[in-house]
Amino acid sequence: MKVTTLISQEEISNKVNELALIISNDYAEKELLVVGILKGSFVFMADLIRNLSIPCRCDFVKLSSYGKETVSSGEVKMDLDISSRVEGENVLVVEDIVDTGLTLSKLKEILASRQPASLRVCAFLDKSSRRKVPVEIDYRGFEIPDKFVVGYGLDCDEQFRYLPYVGIIEEDS
Ligand code: 5GP
Repeated sequence: MKVTTLISQEEISNKVNELALIISNDYAEKELLVVGILKGSFVFMADLIRNLSIPCRCDFVKLSSYGKETVSSGEVKMDLDISSRVEGENVLVVEDIVDTGLTLSKLKEILASRQPASLRVCAFLDKSSRRKVPVEIDYRGFEIPDKFVVGYGLDCDEQFRYLPYVGIIEEDS
């Protein structure tokens, strides 16, 4: 299996700085609760929060949809909920990649029902051509083509999360 670079480490670093600056300005004087969707978002979230110039609290949820397959099953269930109180909080959901939109729309629905002061989404990657349900992304890293990508937290059967760049898997011929 060969991984070809799609987004370099430098491009990622510049984009994370850019997003963190915008988010820090938007939430100036506010307290932020950053909610990462496990597992894929942990690398992006770690870099993002360290570039914010505002304090934040962090929590995580785990939603399952993919398993070992590279196509969505269409079903989303919550495997791990956050322990933080959401009511009255400014919540920023951090997602690695928005594909069909099913995961994010399900999580937004759950969190919105808990009456946050605000609820926004920061997604590292967006594969908008594959969307099945409309979902608003407030802060977007990169729009990518309809290819299965790995690296920077994203896996293929738990491999490749450690890559510092985003790449496309190519099967050996
Ligand atoms: P959605 O619910 O939007 O269809 O899927 C979101 C989840 O599917 C992401 O959090 C991610 O775990 C997985 N996913 C979607 N596209 C890709 C991809 O190209 N590569 C990897 N590694 N995971 C993906």
